[in-house]
Amino acid sequence: MAAIRIVLMGPPGAGKGTQAARLAAAHGALHLATGDILREALKSDTPLGREARRYVDSGTLVPDRVVLALVEERLRAGGAGQGFVLDGFPRTVPQAEGLDILLDGLGAPLDGVLVLDVPDEVVVERLGGRRTCPACGAVYGPEGRSERVEEDRCDRCGAPLEVRSDDRPETIRRRLEVYREQTRPVVVHYELRGLARRVDGVGGRDEVTARLEEALSGLLPPTAVQGATR
Ligand code: AMP
Repeated sequence: MAAIRIVLMGPPGAGKGTQAARLAAAHGALHLATGDILREALKSDTPLGREARRYVDSGTLVPDRVVLALVEERLRAGGAGQGFVLDGFPRTVPQAEGLDILLDGLGAPLDGVLVLDVPDEVVVERLGGRRTCPACGAVYGPEGRSERVEEDRCDRCGAPLEVRSDDRPETIRRRLEVYREQTRPVVVHYELRGLARRVDGVGGRDEVTARLEEALSGLLPPTAVQGATR
């Protein structure tokens, strides 16, 4: 299978986590979600966890140097060769520039960037009803709840579900502002280089996955689409 090297972007609540996990699994790639790595660090009393907490809890961005170091460590450890789906990174233009330099050095340039388009009102509704499993990371949207046997527990691992500390209404608004101000310019950074494809993120999970796969096949070299290795 050809290694894919892509970034999945979109506002908070666009479905990046779910869709990035699906794309990574389908293509044997590493799913690298900086939000997940940071939340994991918050649970432990490490210097990274202590530094990240005030940013994550307030819905603002962790400093670029911290996030870049996390990503670099993981890409050097194997992600660059195996292929990767970056989720929630880069979120600022300096992060995107740092990633360009890192990938150049690794000889593993991006195939492209998929941008999930979801209107603000849909984001607020989705995040307001979202609950997550602190143990295994599963995410439950409002529509998923009725399917669960036991209302407050994770279907996958049985742990009690939580509302993420940054999914409170005032923090959701702050995260949307941060996206508009700091992350939209990253979309432009990639659009100017002809690397970005916009994908409608409204609809069922399978429907959105199919749209992403179609956009992805337009970004990959023809040999990769046919399943050749490179
Ligand atoms: P997410 O799970 O991607 O929504 O990220 C949750 C929070 O983690 C964000 O609101 C930020 O505080 C922090 N975070 C995640 N990724 C980044 C990043 N690339 N740069 C800075 N902060 C980040």
